[in-house]
Amino acid sequence: MEIKNVSVIGAGTMGNGIAQVFASKGFDVTMIDISEDFLKRGVAAVSRSLDRLVKKEKITGDQKEEILGRISTATDTSAVSNSQLIVEAIFEDADVKKALWKELSISAPDGAILASNTSSISITELAAGVEDPKKFIGMHFMNPVAMMKLVEIIRGLETDDETTAAVKAVCEKLGKIPVEVNDYPGFIANRILIPMINEAAYCLMEGVATRESIDEVMKLGMAHPMGPLALADLIGLDVCLSIMEVLHSELGDSKYRPCPLMKKKVAAGHLGRKTGMGFYDYSK
Ligand code: NAD
Repeated sequence: MEIKNVSVIGAGTMGNGIAQVFASKGFDVTMIDISEDFLKRGVAAVSRSLDRLVKKEKITGDQKEEILGRISTATDTSAVSNSQLIVEAIFEDADVKKALWKELSISAPDGAILASNTSSISITELAAGVEDPKKFIGMHFMNPVAMMKLVEIIRGLETDDETTAAVKAVCEKLGKIPVEVNDYPGFIANRILIPMINEAAYCLMEGVATRESIDEVMKLGMAHPMGPLALADLIGLDVCLSIMEVLHSELGDSKYRPCPLMKKKVAAGHLGRKTGMGFYDYSK
């Protein structure tokens, strides 16, 4: 089945980025979220991101309008009925995702590929609730989606070769590089990255150094483009915390216990850039 129309569920940080890259490469995109308000914010984020590309003369103003014109929005999951590929990017919560996938798999056309952008939840477990688990796969885009080349491709226990090949081909059409990994908590990217961020939060909590010093050490000493605390703010502290919780509960090793400072910040609603406050203050 040729992939022409893609539904992206969730218009947040990742969903709007994913919608943008698909629409930029000529796919028709249906962006779905639970309220018009979230959808408006998602489309506005795509528009701002495209404005930056216009300013850098990477695309023209007309191309920006064409890309935006390929994105339609809906609040009802039945809008996936025209899509050959459905990419889900909603909150990192296994129960919420499972409930949504149950609904989506009923509305999806036969043969459609079902992909989750989950950062850490088992693809096999999510696939178990859909009508055709052979068509279910992990498509883990990186943040910011428009800039990052990698897409981690995660096969569930029943994912078939045809689905894997089709998803890899789509990634290449998007100008991305797919890398296949096995279904295991956190896969590769977050199994390694998020414990590092968690350790940086412990260093801050224990007073080993200031937030600026922690980030400078990792930037200057390890050649990381961003420090771990600034990166946590970009990813979202709620996302980081939920991934640590998955690693902790699924792998059962105390080395994955989430940092209490990160938990406290999430409880206070200090989720990073998206709320204006995280490890750093973005309100000014
Ligand atoms: P986000 O909080 O920015 O956005 C989530 C969106 O999903 C919100 O707009 C919310 O309204 C919507 N939503 C929630 N329940 C829904 C439902 N039932 N139907 C439709 N929409 C619903 O989250 P995010 O950072 O974009 O993360 C989304 C997914 O991508 C998560 O699984 C996360 O683990 C993964 N991910 C995040 C990053 C990152 O850096 N933020 C990177 C890679 C993967």
